[in-house]
Amino acid sequence: MSVRVVARIRPLLEKELDKDVIVRADSTEDGKPLTMVKIPSPKNESEEFSFAFNSVYDQSTTQEELFSAEVAPHMKALFQGLDVTIFAYGVTGTGKTHTMRGGLKLADRGVIPRLLSNVFRRAKKVAKDSNGATTVDVALAYYEIYNDKVFDLLEPLEKRTPSGLPLREKDGKTIVVGLSERSCEDLKDFERLYIEANNNRVTAATKLNAHSSRSHAILRVKVTQTTGDMVRESTASAIDLAGSEDNRRTDNDKTRLVESAAINKSLFVLSQCIDAISRGDKRIPYRESKMTRILSLGQNNGITIMILNLAPMRSYHLDTLSSLNVSSRAKRIEVREIENEVVFKQPPRSNSGLGGTNMQRQPLR
Ligand code: ADP
Ligand code: MG
Repeated sequence: MSVRVVARIRPLLEKELDKDVIVRADSTEDGKPLTMVKIPSPKNESEEFSFAFNSVYDQSTTQEELFSAEVAPHMKALFQGLDVTIFAYGVTGTGKTHTMRGGLKLADRGVIPRLLSNVFRRAKKVAKDSNGATTVDVALAYYEIYNDKVFDLLEPLEKRTPSGLPLREKDGKTIVVGLSERSCEDLKDFERLYIEANNNRVTAATKLNAHSSRSHAILRVKVTQTTGDMVRESTASAIDLAGSEDNRRTDNDKTRLVESAAINKSLFVLSQCIDAISRGDKRIPYRESKMTRILSLGQNNGITIMILNLAPMRSYHLDTLSSLNVSSRAKRIEVREIENEVVFKQPPRSNSGLGGTNMQRQPLR
């Protein structure tokens, strides 16, 4: 089991161009790849917190670049039978849906359509290279977890039970009972299904008074390769998580409190699982939330990629810090004291010796 935790900082949108940018990507040394996210301390702006990641993508990163760097390298493993799981984590408005789904224009396409396109291309190649001895089936499941209940997004709203679909254990795996699965022939087929299902999600949102930012949307792509009586099955899962902001700060509505509790719990368990996997622990607490249970996170031999989405503006300051705290793989947070005026004019360098001390301290929350 391997895990990568990376951060992606989105650009300012057109209507935000006058906003104050406080989040930046940095490297440990000049010329090294970007692996650090830096953000000022909210209590003392002359202090800067640094968070370390496996990789950091700044505002100039295209959809194509992100996919090639973080997802494409694992597609071979998927066809060798490993499960690949990609999460987008972060505050609402930071680019999770943009990263996973993206826009309709070719260049704007996100991880999901690119992944499917890659899967179909490989499937064709496997069949061709085996002279038809191996067949490859691609099947989709798409569901959301809202308030700890599982809803099938491939089913029309009328067919959903309000209590959600039950889970059951089978051969040590968690199964969502009654979850539908659709076979997909090609990218066109996929897009038709996916668009229809996303429309379902929107309809559901208005009827149930839920918002997409309050549920986890999980797309599961099952690849089945059959050669004679040998069957190899693996899955790629792409998850657009619920917003990680603290909803309680802005809204005391009772429904919101219930939603917040469910979201906070599952995101907390997720981060615990990611930590445990990256430490190489034997015990992964995946049973403690529905989402991690259904994904059997850390139970099978697979690859997990967590993308932390960040918005660079000051208005997100506290929520950004809290999401950095949850996702950063750095166990110790470095705090540098920098001399305000001087250093802000030149780009600050780590250990620049400007009288800064390196202290270890946990930032807020
Ligand atoms: P989330 O799903 O995390 O709530 P969205 O994906 O909806 O956030 O992004 C919020 C807004 O920012 C959308 O208008 C989206 O198109 C835009 N956006 C996000 N990331 C990028 C990016 N890397 N480049 C350009 N626009 C982006
Ligand atoms: Mg979204």
